[in-house]
This record gives sequence, structure tokens and C-alpha cells, in this order.
Amino acid sequence: MRLSELKTGEKGVIVKVLGHGGFRKRIVEMGFIKGKTVEVLLNAPLRDPIKYKVMGYEISLRRQEAALIEVVSQTELADANLSAQLPQETLSEDIRLDEATLQRIALGKRRTINVALVGNPNCGKTSLFNIASGSHEHVGNYSGVTVDAKEGFFDYRGYHFRLVDLPGTYSLSAYSPEEIYVRRHIIDQTPDVIINVVDSSNLERNLYLTAQLIDMNVRMVIALNMYDELQASGNRLDHQQLGTIIGVPMVPTVSRTGRGINELFDTIIGLYDGLDSEHQIYRHIHINHGPELERSIEAVQRVIKQDPSVRSRYSTRFLAIKLLENDRDLEQTVQGFQGGADIMAERDKEEARLQTVLGEDSEQLITDAKYGFIAGALRETFEEKAEDTERITHYIDAVVTHRLWGFPVFFLFLYVMFEGTFILGDYPMQGIEWLVAKLGEVVSTTMAEGPLKDLIIDGIIGGVGGVIVFLPNILILYFFISLMEDSGYMARAAFIMDKIMHKMGLHGKSFIPLIMGFGCNVPAIMASRTIENRKSRLVTMLITPLMSCSARLPIYLLLVGAFFPHHASLVLLIIYAVGILLAVLAARVFCRFLVKGDDTPFVMELPPYRVPTSKAILRHTWEKGAQYLRKMGGIIMVASIVIWALGYYPHHDAYSSASEQQEHSYIGMIGKTLEPAIEPLGFDWRLGVGILSGVGAKELVVSTLGVLYTGESDTDEVDLAHRLPLTPLVAFCYMLFVLIYFPCIATLAAIRGESGHWKWAIFTAVYTTALAWIITFLVYQVGRLII
Ligand code: GDP
Ligand code: MG
Repeated sequence: MRLSELKTGEKGVIVKVLGHGGFRKRIVEMGFIKGKTVEVLLNAPLRDPIKYKVMGYEISLRRQEAALIEVVSQTELADANLSAQLPQETLSEDIRLDEATLQRIALGKRRTINVALVGNPNCGKTSLFNIASGSHEHVGNYSGVTVDAKEGFFDYRGYHFRLVDLPGTYSLSAYSPEEIYVRRHIIDQTPDVIINVVDSSNLERNLYLTAQLIDMNVRMVIALNMYDELQASGNRLDHQQLGTIIGVPMVPTVSRTGRGINELFDTIIGLYDGLDSEHQIYRHIHINHGPELERSIEAVQRVIKQDPSVRSRYSTRFLAIKLLENDRDLEQTVQGFQGGADIMAERDKEEARLQTVLGEDSEQLITDAKYGFIAGALRETFEEKAEDTERITHYIDAVVTHRLWGFPVFFLFLYVMFEGTFILGDYPMQGIEWLVAKLGEVVSTTMAEGPLKDLIIDGIIGGVGGVIVFLPNILILYFFISLMEDSGYMARAAFIMDKIMHKMGLHGKSFIPLIMGFGCNVPAIMASRTIENRKSRLVTMLITPLMSCSARLPIYLLLVGAFFPHHASLVLLIIYAVGILLAVLAARVFCRFLVKGDDTPFVMELPPYRVPTSKAILRHTWEKGAQYLRKMGGIIMVASIVIWALGYYPHHDAYSSASEQQEHSYIGMIGKTLEPAIEPLGFDWRLGVGILSGVGAKELVVSTLGVLYTGESDTDEVDLAHRLPLTPLVAFCYMLFVLIYFPCIATLAAIRGESGHWKWAIFTAVYTTALAWIITFLVYQVGRLII
């Protein structure tokens, strides 16, 4: 019986928890574990929730939730069927059964495993059903409205199996009575384990259903049926790897002959018992539908979660996906919920959004994403003897994901991207520089002398203006990145980088955030969200700051131009390369010693190529650009003002030259205090102040140096460079230090947001700064000896 049926004061022992994985996990975490005794503290009719006591704690459960927990109780044992299993003397009504007996019975009941067969038509379900329930102990038909399912019972290895052969379906949408029937069976009957029968000679189409089952978060095993045909075809499948990356155990079977059937049921027993057997590779994954869809799914899911009674029956993610697929059956169900109208409204809103942004209806987008998931999974594990040459995607993929040709193509793309960023960005940059200069002029001629004027010209216009000139470069860089993402090429780039990233202990998907890190670390860290594995995600976040972001570029340009005019590109390249190299080393160290977790491989989705809509590209470019602008208006503005003020006060008018005044200002004092710590690196107090200001935002380093070395913030760079009293070695060391040390505040905030802990943000700040000091120290001290 179900826990919800127990009355106040009664006790029961838990047999099993039914329902989807998310629900089971939550319930088990509360202490409702098989074999444990539950006592009902208060179960009044019409009262929800019900109060229970389990493992010494009082816990309330909703009636609906309690209905998904199977128990045995004392009352139930009055039932003749069960009492037959008990010694006679315990049968009398007034003898209360002791808990040990109940527990024995609960465990006995637990030995019944409900299994359902789900698969495409003609994949061999019925053959499998027949061969498994071969002894034909009992085969019965029971029918739904328009479709039939067969039910059979048999025993195997001490377990009693109830096997249901469901009608064949290609998907779990609500288009046919069969589809609805299968889905309702899974949700209402909550089988313990599902056998997803897959025709292995037609994987791509069959795995579509599998992808939908994954969304439902059900416990399942895949029977790779018709394995004989797969072998005969000469195609090769690494089914173990495939099973590992999609999180579902796979067993090759030939249901015509019975091959593999025992292994299949062994795997089911292993799954059911949750044993640590070698088959134990089940884990629930989220199929990544791409950033826009995921955003919509999350939005709808958020509204669904507001009605807590839904969560027990449905995986909220599954429900959200289905609603975005316009599933009529579930739409009706949802309209019956308390907040049904809100959910539907949110769904409609998100659908409209997807339509404008991606120019495609959400149903189609979800289907495409699922096929992208399958294509990615098969590209890694499946080798076709005769290539499928029908579709253009296969042609293009054959080149761009080729294990040799893929790389030159990819580097060509990168080259075009960076060149485009700098060459195209130069023209608007000059325009903005001119505007900023003009603005400064206008203000200086119109405003009365005084601290306020200085604040506006030197603090705000000088600080923010020096940074805003990079906006065009950043927008162009993001334009290219969005283009690569939206066309589907970025997924291919991640795909070919996967092997190399594995050597670092990361995954191919980590590559995208790292590349984006060259633009700005903040959105890059946010992009790490698509990495499924927690460990890889975290390590990716921690090393992203070593990717030299575009804010650091002005410092390099300034110093390289002044001190290495003849080897400018080479020195720049070295700086970027040092960043990459350190990132690789750091990743390896963190994976080994710092971040715990498994290296579960996962599917690299290969979504179909798409000509990106201009709307989507512009929006994505703008979203990222807007982030940059917000940073400008917020952190950079505040930091500029603070730095200006620290350099302005006290004794603003006491000295004749600006630099002398600076030296005696607060900032000069801070710099001087800092000097002993940075002297071994070859830096003077001014350089130290530059470093300090970079903590707010790296863009501020140049403008700060401008203020300190000339006393004027709007000096142009050439002019400034010649006034820097540095040696090439110190200049180089300074670039190294700026590359490695403390990521800016905004980046730290992003790390905190994505990792969920301040601890990782602080760790990043500490390790990068320590690393910067050590490396710069070594280079400077060794360099001094040599030169
Ligand atoms: P269902 O529609 O999923 O119930 O599929 P059936 O069990 O009715 O099987 C469809 C056809 O595939 C039948 O002709 C079976 O004999 C054949 N079949 C089933 N399993 C296998 C297998 O593992 N290998 C081969 N070669 N044929 C199979
Ligand atoms: Mg059949």
C-alpha cells in the first residue's frame, strides 16, 4: 500500500520510492529510505500535508508525495495473501507485528521489480518481451482506450519481475494515442526501471526517443537490440562510451535469439538496487538545448516550481520542455494546476521571444537541439562504414571536425576573428577618441576652475573615456563570437578541442569560455554554465582570468610600442602565450589537487548548421556589449573617481608640478607603502599604483599611469610612453604582472555568482596575485643577471 493510506498512529516500513529521479532523490534525502519505519503523526482527512516521523525526525509530506511511497503496514498484513507468508502465531488481529517482521516483509516485497519496455515500432520489444517472460507464467493483456499493452511475470535471480510491453512510439509527444499512452504509463504507473529498446541499426532515429526519456528523468537501461544487424553492417559503435556520456547503461541484445537478455536483466537489478556494480553508470544528465532555449526552459520551470504539488509527479524541467513543444495533453494538465494560467502565460511569452530571436518556433528548435545532442554523441562513438552523404551537415562536419583538417580551419577562423577585431575596430575607436577629447575640451572651456572641474575632466572623462574607446573592439569581437555560436560552428570547435582539453583535465566545452576570455572574462565565466560536469566547470572558471582579456591590451600596446618597437608582435604573442601556458598548468594542478569530482564525460552537442538571424546576432552582441557598458558606468566610473580623488588630495595646490603633487597625495602614500613589496620586481611606487587601480578594472592601469607620469590624464599614448622611465626588462615584467595578477572586481563577482561561493572568488584573487609575483620576480631577477 501507499504511505498516504496509513492512518494516524499507524506504522509502516518503506518498500520503495516511486516517481521520477528528482523526486526520489529529494524524498530519500529526507530519510525515506527502503526498510526504514515511518510512523504517522497526523493524517486527517482533507488535511494536507500529512505529518510523519521517520528516523527520529518529524517531516511533513504532501498527500501526493506520500502517495508515491510504497510501504507495508500492519493493517495490510491482515490481508490473507501476505499473512500466508507469516508464521501462524502472528496472525491474530490483536497481535501487533514487530518491526523486524515488517522489515522482512518490506524487503521481500521490494524484490518485485516493475519494468516497462519503451521503444520505436519494430525495434524488437515484443520479441524481447516474449523471450524474457519465456516461461509464460502469466501473460495477460490489458488495454487502454485505443491501444493495448501486454503484461508478463517471471522470476530471475530471486527477483520477481513484472514486465509490460508498451506500444511502439517514435517520440513522447502528444501526437498519437500510443504516445500519450506510453507517457501516462510512465508517469502514472511509475515503473521501477524502463527498458528503452533501441534498434541499433538505426541509432539516430531511435535515440530521439531516448533523449526524451532522459528529459523525464526516469531510471532506465538501453537494450541495444538488433545488435547482430549492427555488426553485420560493418559499422562500429563504442556502446560503453556512448552509455557513459549519455548517462544510461547500454546492453547489446539480440532479442530474436536471446543474446544479451541475461546481462540486460542483471543490469536492471544492479540499477534497481543501486549497487556499485560495473553497470552502475546511470546518472541524470540535462540535454543542453543551447543558451536561448535553456533560458526559456528555465523561465517556464521557475513558474512551474511555484506550485509545489507539481514537483512530485513531473520533472519540472520535462514539463517546461514539453510546454515549449506545445504539447496539448500536458497543456490541459497544466491548466488544471493552481498557477496554470501563469505558467501558460510565461510559456507564451518565452515562445514569442524565441520566435523573434531565433526566427523559428520553439518546437522545431527543441527537436533540432535533440538531434544535435544525438549527432554529437554519435560523432564520438559511432563509425559508419559508408558515410551518409545525403545531408550537407555531414559534408561540412567531415571537414571541420576532422581530426587533422579541423585545426587549420579553426585557426583560420580565430585569425580572421582577431584581425577583424583590431583592424575594423580601429576606425570607430579613433572616432570615439576624438569625441572624448572634444568633450574634455568643451568642459574645460565652459566650466569654472575648481575641484569639480578637475573631477569631471581628469576623473570621469579621463578614466571612463580612456576605457570606452575599446567598446568597438569589444563589440566586434562579440559579433564574431556570436556568429560562431549561432551558426553552430562553435560547437564544432569545442568538439575538435575536446581531446586537447582532456589533457588539461577539462572538456571541449571549456574551450568556448576560454576563447571568450580574450574578449572579457566576465561573460566568459558566465558561458561556463553549459559545462555539465561540476569539476570542469569550476576549474574552467578558475583559469579563465589567465586568458588575457581585451582590457589588458592597452597596457601591452603602450609598453610594447615604446620598448619593443621592432619585435612588437613577437612580444605580444609571448605575453598571450604565457597566459595560455599558465592556464594549462593551473588547470592540471587544480584538477589533481584542488577540485574533487569525477571526470564524467558528456555529449558535445552538434546542432545543425543554421544561417544565424541578424536579430539573434545583434542581440547577442549587444547583450555582451551592454555588460561591458554597465561595468563602465559602475565599477570603472567609481574606481576612476576614487583614484582621481586619492591623487588629488590632500595638498592639491601645494606643489608646482602635478607629478610632485601626486607624490605627496594619498595615492602617492599608498604607492610608497607598497613599494617594498614590489621593489624586487623592479617596479617603483607609480607602477604599484597602476597595479592597484587595475584591481577595479584593468583598463584603469593605463589611465592611472597617464595621470602619474605626466600629471595629465589625456596625454596620448605615444607621448606617455616616452616619459616612462623604465627599462625594457621592467616593461616586460610589468606586462607579465598585469597579465597574471588579480582579475578585476567584476570577474570576481562573476566567479562568485557562477560557483555559488565567495571562497572560489577569493581563491582566484589570491592564487593569481601570488603567481604573478613569483613569476615576475623570477623573470626580473634572472633577467637582471643576464642583461
Ligand atoms: P516490436 O514492434 O518492437 O514489438 O518488434 P517485434 O518484436 O515485433 O520485432 C519486429 C521484427 O524484428 C520481427 O521480425 C523480429 O523477428 C525482428 N527482430 C527482433 N529482434 C531482433 C534482433 O535482435 N535481431 C534481428 N535481426 N531481428 C530482430
Ligand atoms: Mg510489438
